[in-house]
Amino acid sequence: MDPLSVRSDDEDYEFLRRVRLRRREPNPDTMTFLERLQEGICQRRPPQVPLNNEAIRSMRPNLTEAELADLSRYFAEVASSIRPPTQFEGSHHQKVQLCAAEIDEAVARLGRWPNADNPPLFALMEYGHVNARTIRAPHTGDHIVLVDTELMQFLFQFSKAVALAIPTGPPAPNGILCYATNIDDVRAHLQSTREPSRRFASVVFHYATTGRASSAESYRVPPATERLYGIIMQSAQTFALAHEYAHVLDGHLRDGRRDVTGVDGERVSLSRWAMGLEMKADRIGLDLTADIMGKAGYDINFTYWGVELFLCANEIALKAISLLRTGDEHGLQDAEKHQVALFHARRTALDFLFHTDLEKKVGKAASDRAWSQIEKGLHAVRDIMDLLWEEDVAPFLKVAHADGVRPAAVWES
Ligand SMILES: [Zn+2]
Repeated sequence: MDPLSVRSDDEDYEFLRRVRLRRREPNPDTMTFLERLQEGICQRRPPQVPLNNEAIRSMRPNLTEAELADLSRYFAEVASSIRPPTQFEGSHHQKVQLCAAEIDEAVARLGRWPNADNPPLFALMEYGHVNARTIRAPHTGDHIVLVDTELMQFLFQFSKAVALAIPTGPPAPNGILCYATNIDDVRAHLQSTREPSRRFASVVFHYATTGRASSAESYRVPPATERLYGIIMQSAQTFALAHEYAHVLDGHLRDGRRDVTGVDGERVSLSRWAMGLEMKADRIGLDLTADIMGKAGYDINFTYWGVELFLCANEIALKAISLLRTGDEHGLQDAEKHQVALFHARRTALDFLFHTDLEKKVGKAASDRAWSQIEKGLHAVRDIMDLLWEEDVAPFLKVAHADGVRPAAVWES
């Protein structure tokens, strides 16, 4: 679990009330299908971990007593407002449902609502591979976005470690965050303290060797870093779900083809058709994420950082598995190679999607002016992740491989 947002308490409670009202009762046939699917894959009910003060404290060690009491009250309200969709949903379902409701609202604001009665259902599923995927329930045709149980934690851990690599100063009196994302400043910061490199390597290592980023140990960060990672994480998590939502909005599953992510059994085929749909889903997903982040008061760079974090983290995770398996980051299995190619292509196209979208909205002259402002810091998160990978994580994993450390069994099945 992680900071949910930066809204005021009043706004939070108002939002929860709207979530309660908006989510109509799903079709019982769809729910039966979903439960069977989850039961078949999970084989067990996930443990329901109570979110008491002790649990909150372990995740958010920086909180004061008053903040802890506030957050605890808020979680109690969330728990009473949002029921798990099925008995197989673990403790992260609330975060996913809140994020889905934010996207519902953005879809309505942007006038993209296709069928007001039938937004996609979001459900957690233990894939073993970090992912989210959209399917249609047979008979009812309802869309279900299946979110891996680890996805939110994976993005939380990566956001936190990346934010730690960004040097921060004390917040300005008006509450504005002070930080430096210039790569030379980041490099100097990484030379002055080993902690960011160590934390980043730890997330990647735990993910590759246990299949769970959440198995990395929890740690304290300065308050400015905590705010920074909260924002990057919010964008990354929103985009991961908004991309799937976009497949539904744009009708990508309507003609019965389910392999919108290019997955066909064990093989991942990257057809031009599937790639086109991925780009479209990214464009809409980016739009929805920017709307949600903009409403929370964050400028477009933060949105972009989160989106790049999502794509880069997936690439790094796959390269780490390869390095531990063969001692070479290019030693991927065929299916993994295609996944890396897909994430890489999406990352490359993002810049173009973003620029053309801006041009469409404000015209060429204004977009060129805005672009020159935005462009400078746009790829900060990508550059920091590349730096951490090249200089710290990859060399560390090579040593680990030489010492006989191998990827978790889940990556070899
Ligand atoms: Zn997709």
